[in-house]
Formats: sequence, structure tokens, C-alpha cells
Amino acid sequence: MNNFQYKADYKFFLNKLAKGNILLFKKKYLKIFDFRDPSLKRKEFNKIRNKVFKELILKHGKKCQLNIHPDCDKVKIYDVDHYIPLSTNKLNKELRKIVAEKGKKVPSQSFGSNDISNLRIACKKCNSFKKHKVII
Ligand SMILES: [Zn+2]
Repeated sequence: MNNFQYKADYKFFLNKLAKGNILLFKKKYLKIFDFRDPSLKRKEFNKIRNKVFKELILKHGKKCQLNIHPDCDKVKIYDVDHYIPLSTNKLNKELRKIVAEKGKKVPSQSFGSNDISNLRIACKKCNSFKKHKVII
């Protein structure tokens, strides 16, 4: 995985997703990463959102796949969530301990892809609860 900006990020995801198993990671998880400009990925996603939503509902039924909020599924409004966020500053904060300059946010990095394997049906509650966190 030479496309990761930092080796520590690669290791973070390798351990979180595949428990350190490099073969498993390459086989199963390569497609969930796309390091291009997040605004470009967002644009592409907006074009496929409806199609992907239908595909996921067909495959998994109309229920939340995240189930991380106590009120999950109470509000039956669903959207498509990126399992690995299109962009996040979580690793900059937690692995590199970058602190925001006054009046600024810690810079984000581009990670998640629009591949179907990176997309989940999420209820409104869980989706807003998750935001740009990396919950694995
Ligand atoms: Zn939910």
C-alpha cells in the first residue's frame, strides 16, 4: 500500500480492518481506499448516490447497517454512509497529535472510496452521530 501518505496510516487500517493480515487486507480492503481530492470523490458520489442506495436496500433490506446510536432505526430515514470516510482528520489528530492552529481545524486527509464495499445504509441518527469518525 504505497499510496498511503504515512506508513502509520497504512498500519492503522491494516490492524483495524484485517488484524494485521496483509494478504487479507490486499484482497478485501484495497477498493475501499481512494486518495484523490475529496471534492472530486464527493461529486462522483452524488451522481451514483441514488443507484447505490437502491442496490444496498435490495441487498441488505431497509435497515441501518451502522447501529451505533441508542436511537438507531427510530427515525426511519436512511442515507448512504461511507464506512471509511471520504476525508477525515482523525489520524492527523490521533496518530500524529497535530493540534489545530487558532481559528483553524486540523487538516483532513483523503481516505475512503465510493466503491460499493465502502458504502452502508445508515439511519439518520447513526449517520449524524458518526460524521467523519472512523468507527470500525
Ligand atoms: Zn442506525
